[in-house]
Amino acid sequence: MKIAVLPGDGIGTEIVAEAVKVLKALDISFEMETALVGGAAYEAHGHPLPESTLKLAQAADAILFGAVGDWKYDKLDRPLRPEQAILGLRKHLGLFANFRPAICYEQLVGASSLKPELISGLDILIIRELTGDIYFGQPRGRRVATDGHFPGAEEAFDTMRYSKPEIERIAHVAFQAARKRNKKVTSVDKANVLETFQLWKDVVTEVHAQYPDVELQHMYVDNAAMQLVKAPKAFDVVVTGNMFGDILSDEASMLTGSIGMLPSASLNSKNQGLYEPSHGSAPDIAGKGVANPLATILSAAMMLRFSLNQEVAAQRIEGAVQKVLAQGLRTPDIFSDGTTKVGTAQMGDAVVKALA
Ligand code: NAD
Repeated sequence: MKIAVLPGDGIGTEIVAEAVKVLKALDISFEMETALVGGAAYEAHGHPLPESTLKLAQAADAILFGAVGDWKYDKLDRPLRPEQAILGLRKHLGLFANFRPAICYEQLVGASSLKPELISGLDILIIRELTGDIYFGQPRGRRVATDGHFPGAEEAFDTMRYSKPEIERIAHVAFQAARKRNKKVTSVDKANVLETFQLWKDVVTEVHAQYPDVELQHMYVDNAAMQLVKAPKAFDVVVTGNMFGDILSDEASMLTGSIGMLPSASLNSKNQGLYEPSHGSAPDIAGKGVANPLATILSAAMMLRFSLNQEVAAQRIEGAVQKVLAQGLRTPDIFSDGTTKVGTAQMGDAVVKALA
């Protein structure tokens, strides 16, 4: 089992070090190789995703990724910015399925801005299509309008598109994921207005015929945004396109109130995956030893489950995280009165200890 370890920038190096520590404590033999990515790679090699890093990622079974980015790179040409490394990895590895679980740990119920009864016991999974939709559709650009409400004015345009096979493969991923959970899929679309999402709805319905044991519900995206804060526990698996998924997965992740707790996985058709916390490189706290490493440690658990076929080890890590939370250990982002404040490395050490 080969893992490419790409810590990246800012807190990326600190939190990935803790996840690696936890993986090493599992008594499973992994081959782990580390490479530069993002701003760190730009500084060393002049590119955020150097050829050597890409090759390492392509040859690995899974990639453990920290985070990339820093305000100091904001003035670079877009292709050289750190964030381009993630887009490059998604594209080159064909990572089309993004998994973002939103789980509310009982000990952190108070950290949410929603009422405890709405989120206590919350466990939902947002599956976002990652390589299509309006983010990648061509043509796109700026031009002078020749028609519309203001002919002659400058305008910009993008193209929303999905092909049937693209929708089929993400629908299969969602139904298969639901089979391992509570057997319910909510497909989110805007079929009442958009042709692209009428096709989406038709194809998801067609694929559903192969999964009669799973309940399928269709929901318009505006309603889904509302239901996610009104009654989030009514969802199990939510599947949607790239843009709607971008927005809804951030909304869902915030239900739990703590960005430092949220893992994510992006998978291709071979189950090769990139595993990373849902947050960014947090330049404001980088180097201070206070970042919460639990999202990255939980991402490592997802890696064991989805790409490395090590379900028992994945559950051991998740159990250890629950245990340290039950012990009252908290990094500053999740600290509240009556709990014990710890730093990044102390939290990692506590998870390692709890594995036993
Ligand atoms: P961010 O997620 O880095 O930080 C937002 C806030 O959350 C900050 O106050 C930060 O201190 C806090 N935070 C984030 N992770 C935390 C953790 N593990 N523990 C404790 N606190 C945590 O988002 P941002 O500030 O908008 O972006 C910072 C940089 O990260 C930018 O350059 C952005 O482009 C980049 N970014 C990268 C990724 C990625 O690598 N996948 C994702 C999002 C943003």
